[in-house]
Formats: sequence, structure tokens, C-alpha cells
Amino acid sequence: VIKANNRNHYKVFESSISKDFKTILTMETELRKALKEDQLELHYQPQKNIETGQIVGLEALLRWKHPEWGYVPPATFIPLAEKTGLIFEIGEWVLKQACLQNKTWQAQGYPPFVVGVNLSAKQFYQKDLVDKVENILKESGLNANYLELEITESMAMSNEEDIFRTLEGLRALGVHVSIDDFGTGYSSLKYLSQFPISKLKIDRIFIHENRKQNEAIVKSIIHMSHSLNMKVIAEGVETEEQLEFLKTEQCDEMQGYYFSKPLPPHQLDRFFPKIV
Ligand code: C2E
Ligand code: MG
Ligand code: MG
Ligand code: MG
Repeated sequence: VIKANNRNHYKVFESSISKDFKTILTMETELRKALKEDQLELHYQPQKNIETGQIVGLEALLRWKHPEWGYVPPATFIPLAEKTGLIFEIGEWVLKQACLQNKTWQAQGYPPFVVGVNLSAKQFYQKDLVDKVENILKESGLNANYLELEITESMAMSNEEDIFRTLEGLRALGVHVSIDDFGTGYSSLKYLSQFPISKLKIDRIFIHENRKQNEAIVKSIIHMSHSLNMKVIAEGVETEEQLEFLKTEQCDEMQGYYFSKPLPPHQLDRFFPKIV
């Protein structure tokens, strides 16, 4: 419990964004500035193959380093970016940055891995998304196989012609698509089996709450993924026990604080002894 006169508490309170925002407009203005003034950063969280222990992917997670407020969490500003349409510019920046960074790592001789990029609903529904992704891959020189786009259940599970076309277009490029936060939305098993999806990401709520029911859910998701020829990764793995359980159940990959928090690019060096 934090005491009211505690210095840390004061600091947390001061940097709390709600206090500083007189209006949503302030934040919108600041977010526009953030793009122009290079306040956005990507941190990367490793994803490990559970059996081999090898790092097979890195998920790019957006960070906004505001000069006064400090780090503003994505859960705070992404919904605003969606509402204002700023998400298009931000999303494109993220995609470009992640591809360039991954290409840079490869050029430096690191073993190749996939970079995961989160897409927001508006971004995913853009008619020219596939063209945009193709252009960014061309510009960055990254092979499409090393890019994975993360969407959520609600974004994908509908019978809209457009969604199927987008997913097919991405597959044709060679880009992977995964379903993020799986188990918390509404999935249609029909679409799940028909759509070209490479991987399910089991939401961390099923991993971190230690309940028998959750174990049953996790086991089912793992088995279903494999039956449908998809890979499966557990999000939010924080303890050895959780990892052991996932290993026993033959979950393919894991991501979570147990191995590493999301880190700025230069801090990832320690995981990859340079080849060249
Ligand atoms: P997400 O895509 O499900 O990302 C996983 C979140 O879980 C990240 O939070 C990560 O830091 C956190 N996490 C990872 N391992 C653990 C763990 O072991 N324990 C706990 N408690 N948390 C863990 P973060 O970075 O705050 O991102 C939150 C959400 O914001 C993301 O959830 C994603 O939906 C969204 N987001 C992040 N970056 C972007 C982006 O570039 N574009 C879009 N559209 N959304 C983004
Ligand atoms: Mg994600
Ligand atoms: Mg997630
Ligand atoms: Mg999420």
C-alpha cells in the first residue's frame, strides 16, 4: 500500500496523465507532436521455443516517451489514436520501424527471427493494407517470412469478404498472421479453421490465474491449434511452474517476464552473441 506522503507516490501522481490532461485535445495535440518529435519508440519482447530454448521471435511494443509525463502506456494512447485517426500514421511508423530494425539485426549477423507487430482494427480494415505492407517490406528489404502481424479475434472473425481477402493477400506475400489475446474475444471455430492464420497467442489471463479451469482451457487451445496446423504461444509467462506446465502440454512457444520484459533494441544484444 502506498502512503499519501510517500515520495514515490507523489511522483506517480505527478506523472499520472489524467491529472495533466485538461481535455482529450491536449493529448491529441501531444500525440501529433510525438510523431514529429521522435518521442515514439519500440521495445521488443523475446518469444522462445519452449523445447529448444531458442529465441524465435520478438514482439514490437510501442512506447511513448513524453518529455514531461514520462512513458505513457500504449493502452492509454492507442484508443485515442484510433479515435482520431492518428493510428494510421503511428501504425505505419511502427511497421516500418520494426521491419527496418529486424533487417538491421539480420545484417549485423544475428540469427534470424520473426518480428511481431500489433495491428489496430482500423489499420487492419484499410483497403490497401496488403499493398502498404508489401511496400514497407520492399523499402526495408526484410523478407516477408520474418514479419508477423498480430490481430485480435474480434477483428478477424466475421464473414466479410474483405477480411478474407486481406488475410489471403498477406499470406500470398509470405507474412504470418497471429491471433492475439486468444480466448478473451469471440472466435468462430468455422473461420478459425478456414482463415490463413499461423499462430494463436493464448491470453495471459489463462496463464497467470492459477485455476484448474484455466489449465483445462490452455490444454484445449494447445490441442486445437495443433489440430488446425497452427502454432501456439503462451503470453505472460511469469513463473517456472507455468513454464513447466506449458512444456508438459507441448505448447510451442512462450513470452513473458519469466524470460524477459520488453526491452529497447540495444539491450537485446545480450541474448544474441554476434556471429559476424
Ligand atoms: P499485447 O499485444 O497483448 O502485448 C502484450 C502485453 O503484455 C504488453 O503490454 C507486454 O509488456 C505485457 N506483458 C508481456 N509479458 C508479460 C508478463 O509476463 N506479465 C505481465 N503482467 N505483462 C506482460 P504493453 O506493452 O503495455 O502493451 C499493451 C497492449 O497495447 C498490447 O497488448 C497491444 O494490444 C497494444 N499495443 C502495443 N504496441 C502496439 C502497437 O504498436 N500498435 C497497436 N495497435 N497496439 C499496440
Ligand atoms: Mg500483441
Ligand atoms: Mg496479447
Ligand atoms: Mg492486448
